Amino acid sequence: MTTERNDNDAGAAAPSNFIRHIIDEDNRTAKWGGRVETRFPPEPNGYLHVGHAKSICLNFGIARDYSGVCHLRFDDTNPEKESVEYVDSIVDAVRWLGFDWEKDGKAHRYYASDYYDDLYRFAELLIERGKAYVDSQSAEEMRLARGSLTEPGKPSPYRERSPEENLALFRRMKAGEFKEGEHVLRAKIDMSSPNVNMRDPVLYRIRFAHHYRTADQWCIYPMYDYTHCISDALEQITHSLCTLEFEDHRPLYDWILNELADAGVFTRPLPQQIEFSRLNLTYAITSKRKLLQLVTEGHVDGWDDPRMPTIVGLRRRGFTPEGIRLFCERIGVTKVDSWIDMSVFEGALRDDLDDKAPRTAAVLDPLKLIIDNFPADLIEHCTAPVHPHHPERGVRTFPISRELWIERDDFVETPPKGYFRLYPGNKVRLRYGYVVECTGADKDEHGNVVAVHCNYYPDSKSGTEGANTYKVKGNIHWLSAAHAVPAEVRLYDRLFKEAQPDAGGRDFLEALNPESKRVVNAYLEPGAHALQPEDRYQFERHGYFVVDHYDSKPGKPVFNRIVSLRDSWGKPG
Ligand code: ATP
Ligand code: MG
Repeated sequence: MTTERNDNDAGAAAPSNFIRHIIDEDNRTAKWGGRVETRFPPEPNGYLHVGHAKSICLNFGIARDYSGVCHLRFDDTNPEKESVEYVDSIVDAVRWLGFDWEKDGKAHRYYASDYYDDLYRFAELLIERGKAYVDSQSAEEMRLARGSLTEPGKPSPYRERSPEENLALFRRMKAGEFKEGEHVLRAKIDMSSPNVNMRDPVLYRIRFAHHYRTADQWCIYPMYDYTHCISDALEQITHSLCTLEFEDHRPLYDWILNELADAGVFTRPLPQQIEFSRLNLTYAITSKRKLLQLVTEGHVDGWDDPRMPTIVGLRRRGFTPEGIRLFCERIGVTKVDSWIDMSVFEGALRDDLDDKAPRTAAVLDPLKLIIDNFPADLIEHCTAPVHPHHPERGVRTFPISRELWIERDDFVETPPKGYFRLYPGNKVRLRYGYVVECTGADKDEHGNVVAVHCNYYPDSKSGTEGANTYKVKGNIHWLSAAHAVPAEVRLYDRLFKEAQPDAGGRDFLEALNPESKRVVNAYLEPGAHALQPEDRYQFERHGYFVVDHYDSKPGKPVFNRIVSLRDSWGKPG
């Protein structure tokens, strides 16, 4: 058997929550004999997003902490929308997040489509027991007969068909003798139930569609509500965790399993559905349908566009699995629907990256600085820590010479109040280098500054005794122009201008931020020659950046901005 274990283990225990309390209580009463089995059940109809990450961290995290197992189950009963591409992307995403579905050498990866035979057999059993019937009303008739929140539904004229007749019709449905929409199989529950989901829900419908795994073997497909609870029971899931919108489906979940337990198919205790609130993240969309729309209409450059809240997008953007898991831990699990601010997500990322990311200098908007009294042929070396809080990680060394690159906004001709960087007559420290005094600037015929001039104090080098004799308020980063490595840097901002782009049924496309991507030609420290894909750095004073793993070429690095150093969204400057 191929191993599906993940050696990039997802680490330590998460804080407690109401679901863990339920499990603790079940363990105390030995309801499951101490067994804890959860499942993560994506439909392979799109790429996973940050909302799924919450569900993944919850389900796999519980399995890990209770020495149980979390099944990866593909809930693939909508043939039209599902594909192997999506299955593969989901497997990759869960593994990348640091989880696996292996226990005692067995890979717990399942497909609802593997249960089609069982699901069909159980449907026949329900028919035989008078618990399901074939309805031959049109979809429109069924909709009208369904009633509303205030009105009970009306029983179908076909509701009292005999089990024999239902069985014959259902078998003919399976045999492909009818057209789509001609018949459906419905559970026989209660047309006047206050819960609309209990008004004889559809269990099977006819679809002449090719399925990516079962090909053309089936022309009837089971509905989600019917499939899900049975899949849980077949896999002996103990705690079936889902989002709050399924709360009203729980009576149906329990009804189906209880009927099948009464029929001798399953033994009790039966899996228990527990609902938690979904993740809503500001400035992001967490609907697969809408994400698909962003991709197909070309608003972004694919599922893995670094602005997308998909796992592949977040990965390409430079987010770390640890940062995403930290975020999921911080937001916790409750039953209250709420919006989580994007800054919480970014904060978790910064907290993870701050400790990990080596420091380097990068000039993103370059302007020449010429040290007029620096000998033209002199090259000196400066050193700086790789990480200010980890001296054991060593130092980096980079040259200084007469001509440097600095950030354009580190020079002004006339300083506003509180500006301590370069302006004529002012002294600043070139970080890890010398103190210089600005003497003026060269301009082109339009009056644009093209180069800044200064003189340096040869006895002021950082780390030497003389350094302390110069008191300066400004401290800027720089790169030796002859040695700096050119790079493309992609500055990403939030994809949407509005915190809740799709709230209240609004057209989320109108909230797209036209400035969510800006590409600049930047310069990096000479050490940037040794970059590896997905290397992450802190560019001093700028933020965290990652080497883009698709577009970077040896000698031609491309960086994505992961996140700035501080939360500056919506603030000027
Ligand atoms: P669809 O819109 O296609 O139904 P979905 O977002 O419900 O998509 P599924 O593939 O059905 O996606 O979801 C797999 C699991 O992830 C489900 O258990 C679902 O509850 C959970 N999930 C999906 N979105 C979120 C979210 N925003 N927050 C928490 N859990 C989520
Ligand atoms: Mg769903």
